[in-house]
Order: sequence, then structure tokens, then C-alpha cells
Amino acid sequence: MKSADVVIVGGGPSGSFASISLGSILKNSNLILLEQREKSGSPPHCSGLIGISGLTNLRLVKSLENKTDINRINAAEFVSPLGNSLIVNRKKKELFVVDRPKLDYLLAKQAQKLGTSFFYRHKVKNISHLTNKQGYIVSGLIENSNSFKIQTKIIISAEGHHPKLPQQIGLSIPSGNWFFPALQYEMSNIDDIEQSTVEIYMGQKYAPGFFAWLIPINDAQARIGLAIHPLLANNTRAQLNYLIHKHPILSPKLKRAKVLNSWGGFVPASGPINKTFSDGFLVVGDAAGQTKATTGGGFNIGSYCGYLAGKTAAKAITQNKTSSSIMQEYQKAWRAYFEPDLTLMKLIRRTLSFTSDPVLEQLFKIAGETNLEENLQKVSNIDLHGKEILKYSLKPITIKKSLKISPYLLKSFLRGIFD
Ligand SMILES: Cc1cc2nc3c(=O)[nH]c(=O)nc-3n(C[C@H](O)[C@H](O)[C@H](O)COP(=O)(O)OP(=O)(O)OC[C@H]3O[C@@H](n4cnc5c(N)ncnc54)[C@H](O)[C@@H]3O)c2cc1C
Repeated sequence: MKSADVVIVGGGPSGSFASISLGSILKNSNLILLEQREKSGSPPHCSGLIGISGLTNLRLVKSLENKTDINRINAAEFVSPLGNSLIVNRKKKELFVVDRPKLDYLLAKQAQKLGTSFFYRHKVKNISHLTNKQGYIVSGLIENSNSFKIQTKIIISAEGHHPKLPQQIGLSIPSGNWFFPALQYEMSNIDDIEQSTVEIYMGQKYAPGFFAWLIPINDAQARIGLAIHPLLANNTRAQLNYLIHKHPILSPKLKRAKVLNSWGGFVPASGPINKTFSDGFLVVGDAAGQTKATTGGGFNIGSYCGYLAGKTAAKAITQNKTSSSIMQEYQKAWRAYFEPDLTLMKLIRRTLSFTSDPVLEQLFKIAGETNLEENLQKVSNIDLHGKEILKYSLKPITIKKSLKISPYLLKSFLRGIFD
């Protein structure tokens, strides 16, 4: 049986960043990453809109950035159910549109260069504690037939949406209802789009429980997609086609458009789980709900949490102590970085997902009258906007203007919390 110091399960960005930080610290250790797909990044699932400040935190090598940067964005236009617009203009171009498959692939290459052995087509099925509790046996299937077993001191679960391993050792996982089925088309020949402006279409009629997006690649090509809450709708493709053909603002832009390709996945909007560690075990990225539940963006946050998990695991290996007491340092570290924003963004998402179109229309009106745009411009790190939105919501003018709709918002919030 093979053995390792650390086994990372999942070769997405969170797993690769965990490997990169482990490999940078531990020079002579045995690090193994197991990935069920044929290569990292393919098939794609992400829209590739990523905040530049988050990438800077990750100290992403400039050459990687240059190889995957397709377009830059400085404004977002939010469109209400009735077609009213709210435009947030940031002074700088703070978002990249990236080639995500290529970025994931290059990150995996970097992790391999730093010492992690990647085993593709390896699907992990089970983990079990060694009898002395000083490690685990990880077992699974290679290309769905041959089995494998690896003994390891530490496991990092970077499995993405719907993880299977944390429950096997008694940790909870994000609720499946808050991974939203999503579909996206890349389209050419689009009219009337601004290359540096992302368009967000809100409303239960066109994107039940979440929103639809148009992310420009250039002035005639864009990624157009949506995600839906599984309790509110069930046919993502039909919903996307309805949006494309019937939306009063979006569909005229797409009259001549051609679909170049399509991809889908599950947008992570659950908010973080309570406990992300156990003896010799850490959970990172989408598997731990470490994303912006407001938008479903998870690349930067999951990657940074992967980096922090790698640091804790490296310390545990160096000190030869893998008990919960050392593994919990990871949880303290990511919380210090990302909380309370992640939880606040979760509460906003829980409310918005069940807000009816008339109430949403009122929210757009109030936002226009109370300068939400100005408040959003103050957010220093675009990935972490939970605190700024809370501050804005608690302003006397916002409270006064929202009094009439507050019972409806409370009802949506309660449904979001209990569903
Ligand atoms: C439609 C869509 C659009 C998105 N748009 C954006 C965006 O614009 N910006 C942004 O920041 N985020 C976006 N996201 C979210 C983002 O893609 C995720 O947050 C990010 O990929 C999380 O990285 P991860 O490494 O945690 O998980 P993943 O990237 O999902 O990687 C997990 C990996 O684990 C592997 N795996 C799972 N189980 C096993 C197993 N048992 N054995 C072996 N391997 C396993 C999987 O094959 C996968 O490769 C989007 C998501 C979707 C679905």
C-alpha cells in the first residue's frame, strides 16, 4: 500500500493551493493529490469572473495571470424584474474575466512542480481511521474499475460541491439546496454590450432564487448564464432559453447571437459550514461553503483557504501532531480572514433567494433613493462586501424607506434560514 504525509482530495483551485502551500513549506514530504477527472480544470464549470485584489492576496505569479486574463471589468449593471437599472461603477478595473480551465491547469502544474504527486482518474470513495487514530486509509477506484488504497497522516478534502468525505468522519457539509444548478452559454454576435460592464439580471420570473449574468469577453462576445434555486425551479436549460428569448432587456441584444459552447455546474451559495477540521482532517473551498453566497464566487476565497489549510497541515507534519487541537488553527486562520463577511453574505443570499419580484422591485427603488451605489463603491475588497451591505442596511434612511417591505423581507429571510 502507498503511504503519504498528506492526501489532498480534489484538483480544483482549493486543492491545488493547499498543495502549493504544503510544497512550499515541506521540502521532503510525501504529498499526494487525488483527482477523479482526467485533468485539472476540464470540463469547465465556472464563469471566470475573479476579483483582482483576491488574486493579489494569493500572490498568483504574474505570468499565470497574463496567460489566463481574457478581459477586465470595472462596472456592474443590476437589472430589476421590471427592467430598471442600477449601475455600480468602480474607478478601477477590479475584476478579471479569466480562462478558468487554463488557470486551474496551470495551478495544478505549479503544485506538481513544488512536490505534490497528482494522480488523475482516481476517485476517492471511502476514508477510515487507522486503529490508533494516528491517520487514515483512503480508498477508491481508478477509472471506475481498479481499486487503490493509500495510508496517510492527514487528509484535505477539496472535493468541491456535494462533498462525500467529511460526513464519513462526522463533520457536516453544506446543504445541497444551496448548491444551485447552473448553465451558461458562450455566445458571439451580441449587440449593445459594454466590454467592461457585467450585467446581472434579477427576478424570480427569469432566474428563480438566484440571478442571470452576462459577462463580456469582448464587445460582441459574452458568457450568458443563470443559476436557479432547486426548491423554486427544476429545468435550468429551459429557464436559460426562456431568459435568452423572452427577457425584455437581454433578448434584443441576443437576436443575432450564436452559441459557441455551453457548460454548467453547481453554484456554491450555502455559506460556510461550522466546523472545518477534525483529527488529521481539513475541509476547504466549496466543500466547506467558503464562497460569496451573494454571487456564488468561490475561486479567490476557496484558494486562499486552501493555502491556509496547507500551512496548518505542514505545521502538523513538522511537529508530528495531527490532533484536532492543532488542526483547528486552520479554522481560526480562515475565520480571521473572511468572517463575518461570509456569514453576512449567506444571510443576504438566504433573504434574496425567496424575495418576490414586487418586493425586489421596491428594493431597487430604495437602493436608488438611498445611494446603495455609493456604499458599494466604499467596499475595499470586492470579494468581501457583507459588512458594507449590513452597514448600509442599518442606516436610518434605509430602515425608514424599507419599513413597508420589511415584513416581506423577514418572511423571505426565515424561509431562507429554515429551508
Ligand atoms: C456556473 C458557475 C459559475 C461560477 N462562476 C464563478 C465566478 O465567476 N467566479 C468565481 O470566483 N467563482 C465562480 N464559481 C464558483 C467556483 O467555480 C468555485 O467556487 C471553485 O471552483 C471552487 O473550487 P474548489 O477547488 O473548492 O472546487 P472545484 O473547482 O469544484 O474542484 C473540486 C475537484 O474535486 C474533484 N473531486 C470531487 N470529489 C472527488 C473524489 N471523491 N475523488 C477525487 N476527486 C474528487 C472534482 O472532480 C473537482 O475537480 C462558479 C461556479 C459555477 C458552477
